[in-house]
This record gives sequence, structure tokens and C-alpha cells, in this order.
Amino acid sequence: MTHTTDYQGRFAPSPTGSLHFGSLVAAVASYADALRHQGSWLVRMEDVDESRTVKGSADEILHTLEALGFEWDQPVLLQSHRKSRYQEILQWLQQEKHAYACSCSRRQIAQQARIGLEGPVYPGNCRQITANEPAGKALRLRTNREKICFEDRIQRRHCQILERDIGDFIIYRSDGYTAYQLAVVIDDADQGITQIVRGADLLLSTPRQIYLQRLLGFPQPEYAHVPLVTDAQGRKLSKQDQARSVSADKPLPALRSAWEFLQQPPAPEEPGNVLEFWQWAASAWDIGRITIPSSPQYAVIQNPSHRQ
Ligand code: GLU
Repeated sequence: MTHTTDYQGRFAPSPTGSLHFGSLVAAVASYADALRHQGSWLVRMEDVDESRTVKGSADEILHTLEALGFEWDQPVLLQSHRKSRYQEILQWLQQEKHAYACSCSRRQIAQQARIGLEGPVYPGNCRQITANEPAGKALRLRTNREKICFEDRIQRRHCQILERDIGDFIIYRSDGYTAYQLAVVIDDADQGITQIVRGADLLLSTPRQIYLQRLLGFPQPEYAHVPLVTDAQGRKLSKQDQARSVSADKPLPALRSAWEFLQQPPAPEEPGNVLEFWQWAASAWDIGRITIPSSPQYAVIQNPSHRQ
């Protein structure tokens, strides 16, 4: 890729199974957008939750991406190698009293909490406890009533008041893993990511991530959340949905389906190989063509444990 701008995009799959069609759509959108802007593009393995990692799937995902003609500009970053960096930030957040320890069980919370945008809003039971907490407890980030808004390049303006809509959220889990919400913010900042193009299931997470960026003094990237690929019941495709896993043996049909799903025009002449596909896609990509259905383009996540 020739880089003539400071555009830096990324694709951040979780290695919890093979690449499925929903992830491919996010990969195609972020790569095509980076190519269109003559930017650079990185791949990060989001294996922060090692309990969900499926052995061999990181390599399998990378192999499929390669077969589909994706080229990344730096070695793949693994979240599982970044623990000391996450610890540094977690300590600072605690020192500054932005974070506090919490040992409330899900059950306890469910009994007391009202329901927000992503399930129970933590009722704040541990907010006032200042004593040093023993290890093994989760850490929550203190939220406030400030209205956090951003202009999504596809989904337009989106606002949340975190304290009301989400509640104090977990940034470090009691099982010893840093939560996705914090890891993603640290990694995007450390990798100099300026543009995030990803699935609309993360639209609701974005205000949490912006809030963290502000607390940590990190720059705010631009966001584009592409429509989700759902099954016949309207549920987000999961990695378990083997029928939709992407075959490295048939790269062009896979790319064409993702391209079509993203409402992009067909190539006037059928590309002969993946290289030709991307050469054409680099100038044909137009994010403005993606329309959003009138219903909100995110699934209400029933069990958001790995993303709290
Ligand atoms: N790792 C997340 C996933 O596979 C994506 C996170 C992101 O793009 O911010 O769904």
C-alpha cells in the first residue's frame, strides 16, 4: 500500500473461531476505506480474553485474510502480549480514583439494577469504598452525567449519558483479564489508529471508549459502524455459525459477497484475482453508499460479558 496520508486503520478480530462472514464484512470495509484514503492498515488479534481464545484460530484468520489479498503494514499485535501496558493504565486510573474495586455478583446487581442500553446499570454499591481492595476483584470505571456524542460516518450522530445509559463499567475482570473496552482504547491509541471501521454491534460501546480516551488524554479516532450481518432471526452471526465461515479457497466469491453486502457497485469487469479486486476496490469504495435501515443497526447484546 502506498501511504500518502496519516490515515491509519485497523481490523481487530477476536481469535475465537474461524473468520466468519460478519467479520469479513468489517475487514473489507476497513481495508477498502484505508486503501481509498491511501492510508495504512493494521491487524490486531484481540485475544485479551484468553478464556475464549480457540487454539489455532488466530493463524487460521490470518491465513484466510492473506488468501483474500489483505496486506497489513506492521506485524500483528497480540493483546495477550500487552498485559504490562494495561496494568500501567489500570494503576493510574485507580490512583486517580477514576476506577474502583467491585466484588458484587451479577446476581446481586441484577436484583437491584434498572435496565439501561446494554442490560443492568450497575447501581454503584461499591462506589464509596476507598480502602485498598485485595486482589481478585473486578475494577469498574466511574462514569458521570456528561453527554458524550460522536458523529459516526455511517450511523450519524450518536449520544449517551454513560451514568444513566450504561453505568460504571468493568475495565478489569475478576478472572484477571483486562476488559475489552479498556484494552481496545489503549491499543488504538498506542497504534496511532485514526479511523475505526467496524461492525455496528460496537456502536453502543463507542461512548465508553471515547470517555476513556478523554480520561487518558488520547486522541479520538473517527468512527464508521457498518451494518451487521444477521441470521434469519435477525441475530448477529456468531463464530459458531460455521455455515457462514469464509473459505480461503474461494477468495473472489467471498470478497464479492462482502462488497455487495456493503452496498458497493459491482466491478464493470470481473477481477481475475484478489489483487485486481483490491486495485479496483481502492478507487471504487464509497462509504457514503452504505445506508442504514430504519431499525437501529446494532443487536441488543443479551450476554455482553466479554465486552463489559
Ligand atoms: N474484537 C472485536 C470483535 O472481533 C472487534 C473490536 C473492535 O473492532 O473494536 O468483534
